[in-house]
Amino acid sequence: MASLSLSISPNPDRLIDGIFVSPRRQLLRRVAINSSPSGFNFLTKLTSSEKNRRNKVAAVRMSSISPASHSYDVVVVGAGIIGLSIARQLLIGSHLSVAVVDAAVPCSGATGAGQGYIWMVHKVPGSEKWELAMRSRELWEKFAEDIKYQGMDPQEVLGWKKTGSLLVGKTSGEMAVLKEKVDQLSKAGLKAELLSTIDLKEIEPVLVVGEEGGATFLPNDYQLDARRSVAYIEKENRKYATEGRYGEYYNQPVTGLLRSGNGEVEAVQTPKYSLYSKKAIVISTGCWTGSLMQDLIRDSDIKLNIPVKPRKGHLLVIENFNSFKLNHGLMEK
Ligand SMILES: Cc1cc2nc3c(=O)[nH]c(=O)nc-3n(C[C@H](O)[C@H](O)[C@H](O)COP(=O)(O)OP(=O)(O)OC[C@H]3O[C@@H](n4cnc5c(N)ncnc54)[C@H](O)[C@@H]3O)c2cc1C
Repeated sequence: MASLSLSISPNPDRLIDGIFVSPRRQLLRRVAINSSPSGFNFLTKLTSSEKNRRNKVAAVRMSSISPASHSYDVVVVGAGIIGLSIARQLLIGSHLSVAVVDAAVPCSGATGAGQGYIWMVHKVPGSEKWELAMRSRELWEKFAEDIKYQGMDPQEVLGWKKTGSLLVGKTSGEMAVLKEKVDQLSKAGLKAELLSTIDLKEIEPVLVVGEEGGATFLPNDYQLDARRSVAYIEKENRKYATEGRYGEYYNQPVTGLLRSGNGEVEAVQTPKYSLYSKKAIVISTGCWTGSLMQDLIRDSDIKLNIPVKPRKGHLLVIENFNSFKLNHGLMEK
């Protein structure tokens, strides 16, 4: 599916499906991996000689560095939209203290490149990502409502707009697929319409799709501004810093895990800090999660399959693009 808009390839494969904690594995007991929807494989059986080797390596790492140490209940690695949202949820929904650590700064990863479509038009009911996308949309809607309830304007704060979404087709074959899409999405409970070329002209006068063309239209899809949303979440998280429940460690790439004498993971290592966690370490480093985890466990015999694959995308932002005005976000079928 190509994109007709100026941003290319929204990356559905990088949607994140939750936090996984492996309760059975001592080594990774506290490591939660926030990853893609396809599942996790943790294979961690160690022989005793390998355990000794691993503990020696950990001991060497511990003794060769002396960075400042800080301790939190939860250490979240990665300050993209996922890491910051996890931190926010922990701060507002519990009494836990949280550190967020990032190799750079928020929005330096995919979050800063995303065009912020909260879209269902290109999703398939019943597919692996459907429930996740529906839940995500519900949570964003609730977030925007909460902001409104507090007397602020979600459009101002998050760039939140009900733009609606258009999936555009030009041939009769594409229109048949778009009609099927409308039926599927309607059955799944969403408001979806099939627009003929004439209907489409009414809402998007400058768009030319030919006589046979048209679009699937979801009037209730949204778009937000990822950078504004991140800035707001960051600002809210920082309110907990005064009670000692929140710490930010930016420009601090996590380079290793620190383990106690019995091999349990208890901290992450950055160039300047050892960040200890009493309850959990969450890895939410987006497309870097696979390579980071492989790196972090390189001295053990743990085998991990982290099904996160980087995918390239670009967002082209143009100022004063007045000659071609669109009223909705759109993609080409
Ligand atoms: C061009 C483009 C358009 C997109 N459009 C949409 C869209 O319209 N709608 C939609 O839902 N999704 C869209 N996406 C996908 C969406 O942007 C991502 O799914 C989302 O931003 C991922 O957030 P994240 O927090 O998991 O990862 P990221 O934002 O990539 O954050 C990961 C963070 O981890 C940090 N990190 C990496 N390694 C380390 C380390 N060793 N130590 C510490 N920190 C580390 C990085 O610095 C980074 O800040 C788009 C993506 C792209 C590229």
